[in-house]
Amino acid sequence: MDQGMSIFQRIARRELPADILYQDDWVTAFRDIHPAAPVHVLIVPNQLIVTAADVLPEHEAVLGRMLRVAADIARAEGIAESGYRLIVNCKADGGQEVPHLHLHLLGGRPLGPMLQCKA
Ligand code: 5GP
Repeated sequence: MDQGMSIFQRIARRELPADILYQDDWVTAFRDIHPAAPVHVLIVPNQLIVTAADVLPEHEAVLGRMLRVAADIARAEGIAESGYRLIVNCKADGGQEVPHLHLHLLGGRPLGPMLQCKA
């Protein structure tokens, strides 16, 4: 096994099991293993981008694909009308646990205020 491979790269390569809802040459979308809402899907680039702080001009197309796929999955999951939240956590203070950029798609219930804690 390539030790440099992130867990989300291994999911995209089908080396680790996941409930994959969508995949193309650029992105993979799969259900979060610990869902925080009735719909909780992660959309990731197939190629490693570690954090949102590592985004480069050459990533703009795949980032756009991630947002478009999120909208398609929201529609397929029946939450496009009721609404949903898209989250990207970045590094330690952002609460990022997996060092591979991922877009959270959360919905299926009212999600409340964006942050639980005040500054
Ligand atoms: P973060 O805190 O990095 O923004 O979010 C990481 C997310 O990845 C968490 O919601 C966590 O439940 C999810 N996650 C971590 N490991 C796995 C895994 O192996 N499979 C799946 N499907 N989700 C995972």
